[in-house]
Amino acid sequence: MKKTMISLVAAGALVLSAAPLQAGAVGNGPNYGGNETINTSILHTYSELASFLQTQEAKQKDMELEVIGQSVKGRDLYLVKYMKNPENPTILFLTQQHGNEQLTTEGAIEFIKHLGTGKMKGVTDNVNILIVPMLNPDGAMGDVDFSLDDYVASGDRHLTRYNALGVDLNRDHVTKIQPETQALHFNVMQKYDIDYMIDLHHQGADRVINGDELVSGSILYPTTPNVDPEVLEGSKKLGAVVYDAINPKGWGTLGKYPGGSAETISRNGIAVEYGISTLLFEMRGMSDHAYEDYVLGQKSNGYLIKQTITTLESTVKAIGDGSIDSKDTSFWDTLPEQTSRQSEEDE
Ligand SMILES: [Zn+2]
Repeated sequence: MKKTMISLVAAGALVLSAAPLQAGAVGNGPNYGGNETINTSILHTYSELASFLQTQEAKQKDMELEVIGQSVKGRDLYLVKYMKNPENPTILFLTQQHGNEQLTTEGAIEFIKHLGTGKMKGVTDNVNILIVPMLNPDGAMGDVDFSLDDYVASGDRHLTRYNALGVDLNRDHVTKIQPETQALHFNVMQKYDIDYMIDLHHQGADRVINGDELVSGSILYPTTPNVDPEVLEGSKKLGAVVYDAINPKGWGTLGKYPGGSAETISRNGIAVEYGISTLLFEMRGMSDHAYEDYVLGQKSNGYLIKQTITTLESTVKAIGDGSIDSKDTSFWDTLPEQTSRQSEEDE
């Protein structure tokens, strides 16, 4: 009798612990519930990123590193360039406008590594690649003029969405007041002939489609009425490349991001101001936050970094070989729009 009770209890415990995994095993990993490890010291610091970029520039003959400006606290902001032929189409990847959304930068680091190896051989012959990694290094390093005491991650630093002055850089693309936004616009957007841009972010960990299926990310094209139809079509094709690369993966479940029309946001503003086809990609879960339900346990890091690498590699290949031009964009009509269980502080 006693034995039976124990096995019943054990069976019950198994069912309980298995349930969250079954809900959406793809790229799932644990949420932060106060028990899982969230340690920011496993992420690249700004200095580690800077020395990585300098080392790669010395190693890779096709790569050039440019300083495009400084953050509020004086950190150099970097642009990584692979520009063999000005006639080639050009794509820009932007990461970490929001300092607490770091796995996109971790993915960009791996992508830059791959560009220096045989794995990506020949790709830069036909496409120019620009990368601005960690546009908000002060926020990423928690070197800001406001308190982060209530942030949940452990480790030697906190990471925050805002820049050192508490400004959301992704609301500054019209007025361009912050030095980080100015560096991006004056020394990248206005200086290079860019055709495509992917702006990489992280959103809350609990976003779902189809009722209760957790997404590994969500995507969206420009949704301002002022966008040129051809630019919009290019954005939708860019999204199609990403969707076809990610969604068939076991860990990939993409939704449509429910975005508005504000042009203060790069996805809209940059599409309208420069005629660049833009795509927003919001990955699941943040590296640190004051809200526990925004932060994702670090067991998911591998999937999310892989999601970034896949996104970057698939788009440069599709632009380089021209296959992006014949992409079918009809999936957008049926892509389920994600919903939020909690508040929305995304994009
Ligand atoms: Zn963001």
